[in-house]
Amino acid sequence: MDVSATHRPRTAPSPDDSAARIAANLSAQLDELEKHGGYDVDDTLPRVVALEEAATAAGAERVRWQARLLRADLLDRRSDLADAVKLMWQAQAWAADNDCRPLLARAHMLLARTHLTMGDLSANLDHMLQAVDALDEGTGPAQHISYLVKLADAFADTGSMSEARKRYEQAERAAIGVDDISCRTMALNNYAYKECTLGDARRAQAVLERLREVSVASGWELDSSELDTFAHVRLRLGDYDAAEQMARQALARYATEKAESDAEAELLQTLATAQRCRGDLAAAQATLDESRRLCETHGLRLLAVRALQEQSELYAAARDFERAYATLHEYHLAEKDLRCEQREAQARNRQAVLEVQEARRQAETFRQQARHDPLTGLKNRRSVDERLPALLAQAQTDGTDVAVALLDLDHFKRVNDLRSHGTGDRVLVTVAELLENIPTGPSGFVARLGGEEFLVAITGTDLAGAAFRLEDLRRAVADHPWAQITGGLPVTVSVGVTAATAACTPATVLARADEALYTAKGEGRNRVCVGPSGPTLSQL
Ligand code: GH3
Ligand code: MG
Ligand code: MG
Repeated sequence: MDVSATHRPRTAPSPDDSAARIAANLSAQLDELEKHGGYDVDDTLPRVVALEEAATAAGAERVRWQARLLRADLLDRRSDLADAVKLMWQAQAWAADNDCRPLLARAHMLLARTHLTMGDLSANLDHMLQAVDALDEGTGPAQHISYLVKLADAFADTGSMSEARKRYEQAERAAIGVDDISCRTMALNNYAYKECTLGDARRAQAVLERLREVSVASGWELDSSELDTFAHVRLRLGDYDAAEQMARQALARYATEKAESDAEAELLQTLATAQRCRGDLAAAQATLDESRRLCETHGLRLLAVRALQEQSELYAAARDFERAYATLHEYHLAEKDLRCEQREAQARNRQAVLEVQEARRQAETFRQQARHDPLTGLKNRRSVDERLPALLAQAQTDGTDVAVALLDLDHFKRVNDLRSHGTGDRVLVTVAELLENIPTGPSGFVARLGGEEFLVAITGTDLAGAAFRLEDLRRAVADHPWAQITGGLPVTVSVGVTAATAACTPATVLARADEALYTAKGEGRNRVCVGPSGPTLSQL
């Protein structure tokens, strides 16, 4: 029997609880898809869209952006670069605005990858630096290591191999620290591969020795990409027999893995090169044909272009120099096309950046407008509804003095009736200007609640101090030279002020200030009253 399940009181989950549970559940499903579902885009994409919709319906904003970022990842894998990159920038902006570091890190990592596809190596490095920078203590070690390796790759791609080495070694140490063989071999594999492509086959060889030792000691079976690196290094060192053997092992291992579809075409190219170098030209041609077929089927542009280069080498090895030259020409044209497409993608990326920036500016303008009164420019009721609870919470947690005052113009209807609505408006604007001169303390503020009614929140002084400031204001309004605006009609205000105490809610504090305001009106207007039913200012 499950003892822990008995006699437990059943309580209905609070709405907050269940919303948080729904969000956590959706997020876990997305994590799972991020880890395992990424490669079959057509199958995964509709599931991600469904999760995004569920997150939107549940009001789970962070999960919604997590889903969008995964959608961007999938669109990018499907070569929908323009849509992908826009979503990535939007997610990056949201994550930065909301200080959501895991999402920010992931957005930068994906932006790094798209920039790599676009051939912009320095932007790739820049985004990887920001991605690693955004990681925090909550990041799992495997993700941390994988990001460090990507950062190292980015350094290597820009030619900074010494910076790259530091990151590879840091990643390896981190993997040793958490005893993660898979991460450790990944770090060593990429390290060796980049040493090799940057031309230092000896160093690459030394790193591979370490990889082999780790693999033997831990019983780790080398994967196809690791075996491919062994083959590459052997090629560089001129050991073609071993290179072919390694390339074959890589392909055999690939057949047992459930891996990305473009890997096979790449492994075949390594094998074709090894076969050519060994002089087995017929076999090399057959292997290359198979690789090119896969490139065609899977739309692998970069590898298809690389295959042309290998094909040209192969013709040259067969002393068919005419075709070798023609194919080399074809290769250069294809490469030029690719660069052209990359430049177009870069232009689309810049467009996406501009659109996201513009959308942010507009959203900020709307946010400002939604929280301000258009006539006086003061904060409006909506802004009060957002700020007052936080201010009262502060009063309760750290004991900050908070006084809340309601202020209403006296006989204002007369100004409208005897002069004009326009004159009334000018009076409201002038009172607002006078109100803005009142010292409200570090987190206090002034707002127009509606009509001729205003709210003043004063912090950092006790109730008497606040009341004296309001009295100064009352006098400033009464003494203002109104004649120019109202043609002789006086303008005065009545004020009710109260202190926020520990048990105050926004509703109770406003009700008490209103009660004091009512007293001020009842006692003849043009005065400040302290509530509830407290003394008038002259009695303080
Ligand atoms: P009391 O001293 O009791 O507050 O009298 P009152 O005349 O100020 O109060 P009442 O509530 O009767 O009238 C308020 C007037 O404020 C009525 C309305 O026409 C005017 N008002 C509300 N909003 C605006 C505005 O935006 N512009 C102008 N010009 N008048 C406004
Ligand atoms: Mg009034
Ligand atoms: Mg009123």
